[in-house]
Amino acid sequence: MAEREPVIGIDLGTTNSVVASVQGHQPLVIPNRTGQRLTPSVVAVGRNGKRLVGAIAKRQAITNPQDTVYAAKRLIGRKFSSSQVQESLQRLSYPVVCGEHDDIRVRLGERDWALPEISATVLAELKLDAEAHFGCPVNRAVITVPAYFNDGQRQATKDAGRIAGLEVLRILNEPTAAALAYGFGRSVTGKIAVFDLGGGTFDVSVLEVASNVFEVAATGGDTFLGGEDFDSRVIEWLVFGFAKEHGIDLRKDRMALQRMRDAAEKAKVELSSTREAQVSLPFICTPPGGGSALHLQATLTREKLEDLTRDLAHRTLAIVDDVLREAGVRVVDLKEVILVGGMTRMPLVQELVRKHFKREPCKGVHPEEVVALGAAIHAHSLLSEESEVLLLDVTPQSLGVAIAGGYVRKLIPRNTTVPTTVTERFNTSRDGQTVVKIMVLQGESEIAHQNELLGEFVLSGLREARRGEVEIDLTFDINSEGLVSVSAVDRETGQRQSITVTATGGLTEDELARIMDEQRDYLLEARATDEVRQKRQELEALVGEANGLLPRVRGLTEGSEFGSDALLKAERYLKAATRALKGEDLAALGESLEQVGRTVNLFRGIVQRMGQGR
Ligand code: AMP
Repeated sequence: MAEREPVIGIDLGTTNSVVASVQGHQPLVIPNRTGQRLTPSVVAVGRNGKRLVGAIAKRQAITNPQDTVYAAKRLIGRKFSSSQVQESLQRLSYPVVCGEHDDIRVRLGERDWALPEISATVLAELKLDAEAHFGCPVNRAVITVPAYFNDGQRQATKDAGRIAGLEVLRILNEPTAAALAYGFGRSVTGKIAVFDLGGGTFDVSVLEVASNVFEVAATGGDTFLGGEDFDSRVIEWLVFGFAKEHGIDLRKDRMALQRMRDAAEKAKVELSSTREAQVSLPFICTPPGGGSALHLQATLTREKLEDLTRDLAHRTLAIVDDVLREAGVRVVDLKEVILVGGMTRMPLVQELVRKHFKREPCKGVHPEEVVALGAAIHAHSLLSEESEVLLLDVTPQSLGVAIAGGYVRKLIPRNTTVPTTVTERFNTSRDGQTVVKIMVLQGESEIAHQNELLGEFVLSGLREARRGEVEIDLTFDINSEGLVSVSAVDRETGQRQSITVTATGGLTEDELARIMDEQRDYLLEARATDEVRQKRQELEALVGEANGLLPRVRGLTEGSEFGSDALLKAERYLKAATRALKGEDLAALGESLEQVGRTVNLFRGIVQRMGQGR
């Protein structure tokens, strides 16, 4: 089946994304169309209004910071007004605005983009890469998310998949995917921990693996802790040093900020293998009062980097302890610790993990690729009959409803195995009450407003009665993807109220439909561009070969009438091909391909037949 209709697994990362699939019983990373295994999760609108994705978008970020979006994963499905979002907005070099439903929109090019639309652009690129790899359409995928993502973030990621033209077979938790890839092809039994520190998020999960059953015992994390935060510390250090020396605050300059961001990340990565890194940013700014441009020059040592970021690295350990406690597992009970995410290459992080878990972490998996490989394995197993893998995940955050006094009544505590369903009975609290408003919350706080509001709905048309007389059964359901739905039944009438928790991803079905239409147009255009590129490459090769053979053919056919006719035609074709190569016209390129193809065949024939013996 896999050969006929490929399905893919996608690790949609904060910094980089990876696509993989099972080919010939082996999970493999699919390189993108430029041959790279990691695709930067960066989207931009170039000066000519064209969409740019991946490395090409990343490369132009410095000169076009305002229209280049990175780390969209940190904002997807979140509320604009949330304090964590507000704090992180100050560090962004692209402008964001508040959408109609308190969602976040990015002002990019000429319009505002919803976050799922940005992520969809990355997903669509990976879909095109997979299609180029397989030479056929690829429509189905498993997409991974941090285990700690709430319903809104999951829903928004799923929307992104739909916008990209993908049927999302499943939203899968990253640590579960990593465990699947780790367990692939070996017989693993016991408890394992997955420590995942990526570009934007931290996750840790404890799983119990018994041959083909992967059961998550507990999971925890922080969606605002990752490589970006380490980079920010380096940026702050650079800004502080520059301000001290020159009295200028570089944070106000978007281009300088983008250059420092690149340099900070580069230095951080370098310091995983060296002890000292140079940061050199010539012409970083001109002094406000005029004068010659200033340069930023600094030497960052590994020790300094570690001083700057030690508290961040330590924050992961507090979460590890919580998760181990929740899982009822001691460090010594663990069979293996798997490191996932590019940040786990940092020596300080490795050292903390080694000390805390009292063992060497597992070396057999590639931290940046393991999640995509796991997603591919799962995608394959969902569609194949032979699969026997059973995944039992948990809900990462508690689900509850707001109650009087601004508090929360928890209905499904975190780390409950999913899928799960809970029905609770509610009564009216006032005489004559005909309307009940229910606010569904996700999070750990006892105080309602400190949790994420997944959605709210109103039950109306209740019978007028004394308080407490009217009973409503509310059913809360979390499916195996961690997505929440709620239904309500008026006990007296048996009437079911249709309720959907509008995800905080913030897109209505209408908006989604409009964006999907636009995306379809974009995909058609992107495919056409791809086709032009491919035809151009083929034509260039053929023109090269024809031009190479031409002098020989000329010599061989000299004096023959046939030869001069054929040569005239060939020259005409080659001229037309040169014209076609300058343009973007697919039909002209196709026609030239055919003509120059025939010419090359003819030339080869002439050289073969007439060239013998000469
Ligand atoms: P991921 O989300 O797994 O792609 O991780 C990306 C994060 O890992 C980014 O913040 C990178 O800067 C960081 N990273 C990648 N390679 C290294 C390295 N060798 N040392 C330190 N950090 C790294």
